[in-house]
Amino acid sequence: MRGVAGMGVRHAVVAGGGIGGLAAAVALNRRGWGVTVCERAPVLTGIGAGIVLAPNALRALDSIGLGPDVWAGDALLGPVGLRAPDGTWLSRTGAGATSSRHGPPARAVHRGSLIDALAAALPPGVVHLGVAVTGVDDTGNTGDRADTVVVRTSAGDLRADVVVAADGVRSGLRGRLFPRHPGLRHAGEAGWRAVLPGFGPPPRSAAETWGRGERFGIVPLVDGRIYVYATAAGPGTKPADHHAELIRRFGAWHDPIPALLDRLGRRNPDPVRVLHHDFYELASPLPRFHSGRVALLGDAAHAMTPNMGQGGCQAIEDAVVVAHLLADDADVPAALAAYTEARHRRTTRISRRSRRIGELARLSHPLAVSARNLAVRATPSAVTSRALDTVLGWQPPSGPAPTVRA
Ligand SMILES: Cc1cc2nc3c(=O)[nH]c(=O)nc-3n(C[C@H](O)[C@H](O)[C@H](O)COP(=O)(O)OP(=O)(O)OC[C@H]3O[C@@H](n4cnc5c(N)ncnc54)[C@H](O)[C@@H]3O)c2cc1C
Repeated sequence: MRGVAGMGVRHAVVAGGGIGGLAAAVALNRRGWGVTVCERAPVLTGIGAGIVLAPNALRALDSIGLGPDVWAGDALLGPVGLRAPDGTWLSRTGAGATSSRHGPPARAVHRGSLIDALAAALPPGVVHLGVAVTGVDDTGNTGDRADTVVVRTSAGDLRADVVVAADGVRSGLRGRLFPRHPGLRHAGEAGWRAVLPGFGPPPRSAAETWGRGERFGIVPLVDGRIYVYATAAGPGTKPADHHAELIRRFGAWHDPIPALLDRLGRRNPDPVRVLHHDFYELASPLPRFHSGRVALLGDAAHAMTPNMGQGGCQAIEDAVVVAHLLADDADVPAALAAYTEARHRRTTRISRRSRRIGELARLSHPLAVSARNLAVRATPSAVTSRALDTVLGWQPPSGPAPTVRA
């Protein structure tokens, strides 16, 4: 493994080969940076779940060469709706309306496909598997090495002009750079996720159903499979049998939920893996997303609840913005300060909004649930759609990067 900072081409070390780290590697590589990605896991893998790529993320991906043709299949996500457990629609947004308002309609892909597409956009030899980043050290940098940092890894030290900390929700680098930050807090919910093979006529629309402290989501993926998820309020005690627990909670909800649960429980031909996780978010925003020559990105910088489906989308936005600001011969610490300036307010607002949606979705008192459902039904879909303008209407930076000098 090479860390070749200080030899002409500037070099970035990316800690973490997840969505944000790989997107940053692609974006930096396209800007002429040499890149080394260190991924702790022995394989690059998107966990067995879907992910919704909203228009803002699709635009960001397009700007780094991963345009619509990368997402094989023609099933677009939409219309999108919110339902009650008896099937009543509480709100419904047409895909066409969303499309013209916010740009490319959202697409839902398997996480593995997203990781594969990002990795395939990198030159060979960039990603190093089974290598954990354990620390970053800029002490003792003198002379012609003053402009680099040492990255400590399980496979030895590397030198880099910039480090991208994309090591996820439980980021070790975050803890080292901001030791006084309180870290994560439980988001009040736990959830199940699974990807089912397609069967029968595929559901054409994505919908989330809100009950009392429980939710069930159905999202058709572009490849014909169906991504289902469910949540329940409270810290999740691990049920002995996830399938039985899902049937107990959601088995009497509207169609096609019982059929999907039935499918989930079948053992032939292949058992479907059901993931179950508690949700966490940062207890408070970090003071900034950089420290010296290190930029934090994605969940390492702003782990948020999944209620808006924006965590990964924001990681991709971060990647595009940081690479834009680091273009040409930008001064690295100044570019990273500009990165915090560009990203902190936006991601903090989206995190707060996502948390508020979770609070509404988790209501369980029957009166509160009725009032919530009435309010949702009374809100015109145009208003709901307009309220997402600032999130979904984001545009990637274009043109030359601003001159960022020390
Ligand atoms: C239930 C649920 C549903 C979600 N749905 C959506 C959605 O629809 N749309 C959306 O945009 N977002 C969604 N998200 C959020 C999204 O999954 C995350 O925001 C996104 O994965 C963050 O990407 P990341 O690259 O920051 O972290 P990750 O994807 O977690 O990647 C971090 C990587 O770093 C590696 N790593 C960790 N420590 C080290 C180390 N020391 N050295 C080297 N490597 C290391 C890990 O192995 C991992 O590969 C959802 C989240 C949840 C929990």
